Amino acid sequence: MIQKFAVIGHPIGHTMSPFIHKNLFALQNIDVEYFTLDIDPEKLSLEMNGTLSQLNGFNVTIPHKETIIPLLDSVDGSALKYNAVNCVLIKNGKSYGCSTDAYGFTKALEANGVSLSGKVLVLGAGGAARTLAREAADRGCHVTLSVRESGIKKAEHLKKWLCDNGGTANICTLGQIDGEYDLLINATPVGMYPNPDASPITEQQLKQCKAVFDAVYNPEKTLLLKTAEQNNIKTVGGMAMLVWQAVKAHEFWYGAEFDPKDIKNIITEANREMEKIFYAK
Ligand code: NAP
Repeated sequence: MIQKFAVIGHPIGHTMSPFIHKNLFALQNIDVEYFTLDIDPEKLSLEMNGTLSQLNGFNVTIPHKETIIPLLDSVDGSALKYNAVNCVLIKNGKSYGCSTDAYGFTKALEANGVSLSGKVLVLGAGGAARTLAREAADRGCHVTLSVRESGIKKAEHLKKWLCDNGGTANICTLGQIDGEYDLLINATPVGMYPNPDASPITEQQLKQCKAVFDAVYNPEKTLLLKTAEQNNIKTVGGMAMLVWQAVKAHEFWYGAEFDPKDIKNIITEANREMEKIFYAK
């Protein structure tokens, strides 16, 4: 019987998940159907016992990442650490959840030869910042959280969580960024489609950073990444994180292993596909 997978969210607009997962299944010569399912939060529990229980596995996006946890039979350490699940395996009538975000981020850096060490500047204090800053702190990096004035409270909560878990962190506003950093992480949506002409920090501030990771994946090259390249600063784009997260999902679902060269090709193809969808004249 053909295996069935899906991505669930609400609302679920355009998502790269079907493209990326179909390509990964094709690399393993596995024939699957991969759907996009818009599930109203109020119906999540009902669907968990209905449509979703008939699948082999599924990916989870906003707003279900946290609310799905009590509906699952078990979750692993990655899900417990972030109190979020973005990947579910259904096997022998039982459901298992994990979070692939951190793996996607660290593999994206590693595959591009960027080290997660030293002084790390994280822009933003939302969902992505939480994962990226925690991974940096857990590897012994000193984390500086930089936010706009309205985000200070959120940044304080995030700083407390990092420090409570053994990390070291400080906070500044975007205007106060100063000094040198080993890695800059943009975890804000600034520069994202349809506003690609925006950058979260100035070129002067950017020049103090040795490498840049931009979580934004649309466009492939944000203004921040373009400016970094012009200054010979090493860059990693958000699509690499998205694809490596999907790789982790395949490992979780059926123990798949991939050649990093094939993953690099899928990242390139996913960027081309996104260009076709969003920027075709
Ligand atoms: P989020 O939870 O809404 O957090 C966004 C953060 O950015 C908040 O701290 C927010 O600050 C700040 N922010 C928003 N607009 C800003 C602006 N104009 N100037 C300065 N700061 C601003 O969003 P998220 O889920 O963390 O996502 C952030 C970005 O990461 C998005 O572009 C998303 O697509 C991307 N992402 C990528 C991946 C990947 O795999 N590549 C994974 C997850 C997320 P306030 O509190 O002040 O609003």
